[in-house]
Amino acid sequence: MTPTTLTQKKSAASSFNVEKIRADFPLLHQNVNGYPLVYFDNGATSQKPKSVIDAINQYYSVYNSNVHRGVHYLSGKATDAYEESRRIAQRFINAKSEVEINFVRGTTEAVNLVAQTYGRKYVKEGDEIIISAMEHHSNTVPWQMLCEEKGAKLRVIPMNEAGELLMDEYDKLLNERTRIVAVVHVSNALGTINPVAEIIKRAHAFNVPVLLDCAQSVQHMAVDVQELDCDFLCFSGHKVFGPTGIGILYGKEKLLEDMPPWQGGGEMIKEVRFDKTTYNDLPYKFEAGTPNIEGGIGLGAAIDYVTNVGLDNIAAYEHELLEYGTQLLQNIEGLRIYGIAREKASVISFLVDDIHPYDFGVILDKMGIAIRTGHHCCQPLMHQYNIEGTCRASFAFYNTKGEMDRLAEAVKKAKSMF
Ligand code: PMP
Repeated sequence: MTPTTLTQKKSAASSFNVEKIRADFPLLHQNVNGYPLVYFDNGATSQKPKSVIDAINQYYSVYNSNVHRGVHYLSGKATDAYEESRRIAQRFINAKSEVEINFVRGTTEAVNLVAQTYGRKYVKEGDEIIISAMEHHSNTVPWQMLCEEKGAKLRVIPMNEAGELLMDEYDKLLNERTRIVAVVHVSNALGTINPVAEIIKRAHAFNVPVLLDCAQSVQHMAVDVQELDCDFLCFSGHKVFGPTGIGILYGKEKLLEDMPPWQGGGEMIKEVRFDKTTYNDLPYKFEAGTPNIEGGIGLGAAIDYVTNVGLDNIAAYEHELLEYGTQLLQNIEGLRIYGIAREKASVISFLVDDIHPYDFGVILDKMGIAIRTGHHCCQPLMHQYNIEGTCRASFAFYNTKGEMDRLAEAVKKAKSMF
């Protein structure tokens, strides 16, 4: 589905109407510190198109009501909209069934859910869990907590200096004690696109399920759970142009069926007696309590928006931006880019001379440019590079080459000030 040839990629990118897209995002049109805003902090959270804002507004203005089991008109309407979003998410990642789509708070909650249910049931003393050297803390700490509880061991796939996983080392880690592999699809700190299809294939040879952290991938490229054959996959709504506080956990139906519930409460039950409770069917088994209704509806609108623009168009356009920005920045003397993998998505992490990233971020902000500085919730990764953190420009399909020029100019100016 991704354009295969460079010519195809280039023609998709050059026909991309970025100004038309920008018109859909109200927040982008403002000045910050006297300059037109350049928003390069999309890895942390992305901006929202008007259709998402309108969908949430519409829900609260016209049909706000609690979902499921309501007999009245408004509840029916809210339930239909919320459940339609589940189907939109299902189609987005090509899940076989809508019951495989669980609404969660975000990627963090999704990983914790799998660790606390699948993990608690199947991981025993002496077992092993494999993650990678470039995981976000949210795909590290939940597994560490589980290992501590169970007396299991966390194993880490190492990477090279460019920020690419060492697949031969991965092979050495996989064995009959491995219970799950949990890896990030696209690194938020480096931009590396990991070879997840291969990672899954090799884990499956040992009958080991794989969880993919797609917090930084589904907004940049088409992801198909059936093609990848991943067992679990998660992403956050707010990074894919939707609201905060909502995300998706995909799991293969059979695995979800066999997992115990996580939180107890309303919605997740079939029948409650004081001596015994029976649990609801999927997906409600993992959705205790009143859900984030507005979040679900907003996420559906966000996915519709992205799908209309087209992920292949987005991938091609962002690839062009990445190449353009990389070229500009790497020509600046004293600037080092962290993460130079052959397969990369919309992130440029860098340091200039020995200037502290925080100082850099503050100066760029004075010029209206929003970047993120620090360890990006990847402290072990920073440790490997022997640095505290980086400056990170992470972009989306509404960013432009002109904004890349502004970034490069601002970096040069900031550098000259130290
Ligand atoms: N994984 C990756 C790769 C991320 O970039 C992030 C957010 N920075 C997360 C997980 C956590 O996402 P959330 O905070 O939305 O739960």
